[in-house]
Amino acid sequence: MATTPRMKITYATLSADNEELQSAFDAALERAREELGTTYPMIIGSEERFADETFEDRSPIDRDLVLARFPKGTRKDVRDAIDAAREAYPAWRDTPWRERLTIMRRAAEIISDRQFDLAALMALEVGKNRLEALGDVEETADLLRYYSDEFEKADGFVKPMGSLSEAERTRSVLRPYGVFAIISPFNFPMALAGGPAGGAMIAGNTVVLKPSSDAPLSGWKFGEALRDAGLPDGVFNLVTGTGDTVGAELEENPGIDGMVFTGSYEVGMKLYRGFTKDYPRPIVTEMGGKNPAIVTRNADLDIAAEGAMRSAFGFDGQKCSALSRVYVEKAVAREFVDKLVERVSTIKVGDPTERDNWMGPVINQRALDKFTDAVAEAKKDGGTIETGGEVLDAERGYFPTPTVVTGLPLEHRLFKEELFVPLLVVGEVDSLDQALHEANDTAYGLTAGIFSRDDAEVRRFLDTIQAGVVYVNRRAGATTGAWPGIQSFGGWKGSGSSGKGGLGPYYVQQFLREQSQTVIGE
Ligand code: NAD
Repeated sequence: MATTPRMKITYATLSADNEELQSAFDAALERAREELGTTYPMIIGSEERFADETFEDRSPIDRDLVLARFPKGTRKDVRDAIDAAREAYPAWRDTPWRERLTIMRRAAEIISDRQFDLAALMALEVGKNRLEALGDVEETADLLRYYSDEFEKADGFVKPMGSLSEAERTRSVLRPYGVFAIISPFNFPMALAGGPAGGAMIAGNTVVLKPSSDAPLSGWKFGEALRDAGLPDGVFNLVTGTGDTVGAELEENPGIDGMVFTGSYEVGMKLYRGFTKDYPRPIVTEMGGKNPAIVTRNADLDIAAEGAMRSAFGFDGQKCSALSRVYVEKAVAREFVDKLVERVSTIKVGDPTERDNWMGPVINQRALDKFTDAVAEAKKDGGTIETGGEVLDAERGYFPTPTVVTGLPLEHRLFKEELFVPLLVVGEVDSLDQALHEANDTAYGLTAGIFSRDDAEVRRFLDTIQAGVVYVNRRAGATTGAWPGIQSFGGWKGSGSSGKGGLGPYYVQQFLREQSQTVIGE
């Protein structure tokens, strides 16, 4: 049997023009199709728990395709998972941190070894194209590696402190909280389950994961890699099911010591308030974005058009970092839009598991409806659909076309609200100051970009923009493409609660609390 190659694919990998990669992906797809329809269990301590009631994990590429079936978890299942996590906690906390890191690094290697199989399943599950799916899998592995490296660099977060007397020795120790709930979204179904869960476990916490019901299989496969890496039972638990039952129990149960939620603003804010109703517990909420790019008269318009195209339409505009609005100076607006439209109209839309298709489907009917409603609204309110605005005639999938809208007033809803679909609004401005004002005039503050060759303009942008992740003149993506250890990723304002990004050097500390230990000796 031919061995599967291992390749480093990141979100900055622009071309899939590599025969070895393509044939490895083809082979993995075939293997993935053989596995379709399997019923998977929840993971509760050492138990693989099935249930009478299940739900189907269907592909957005073809809604008749049932990838897998998962249990409809109940509140009792969640309580049992929390009990298992609490039972496993003391031993995991007391495991020397170097041993914890060894297990996590082993899991990272297993994930990288399985990159093609995991990516093929993910492509079917959420409709990512080949490179995007491979990137998500490799990001998960790199998150485990990076957080482990950071923990090691900090020597386990034990710091000798000063002393006021000869007899006294003090140290500051960061210690885990206990059990973390991780609630993850559909759009990075492995990296945003595995990253937060990995951070929590590296720090010595145990975990209960609730993956998105649109993408439970990628979360489950992450758990399988942990098991195969030798993680003790109960350190990682997984309960599938709805936000209303599984999510609500995680929010309300006092056996949960901390939470990381990644998803929409509406659900995130509900959890942010509810989780701390009775007493303070740490909760990191990573939420939506309405990410702007600014194109000034001093921009290289080819780079700007390429960067905008990639960020607005990569994974169908369903990245939290996706570009959804551009503010371009009037003097160059028409030329920029023409260059953008030229590129966007060459995007191939279709089954993203096929090598030539760059854009696939949106995740479900609700998302497709959001798209068609937004297009209708743009037309009704006097906007011009420069390209796109249609839905492919695909009976069994949800395939919008990449859409660029101009001519709407800057205060229009489509400039303000996150849609999470492949629709980009472009507005004209008189100056950089006006662009910055508009860019910041939103509840969100996740990512932002600028295209300008003028240093003073770039400085002003960096000083003024309200966003956690910013890029200047980035052809590979105006606002997207963060990678562990390269770009920290976290939102400001309504986009995130902690002010410390995932993927970055201040992340793993959020799973720890400080204890000052003063010991009086002889
Ligand atoms: P979502 O908010 O619909 O769901 C996220 C998770 O919350 C899912 O697991 C869901 O089942 C669960 N959930 C739903 N209702 C719940 C409740 N009442 N209690 C507890 N849990 C509940 O988000 P989505 O559609 O899966 O993902 C898209 C959203 O996520 C977008 O808004 C996007 O911007 C955001 N996002 C943000 C980041 C970031 O890092 N800031 C990253 C990825 C996605």
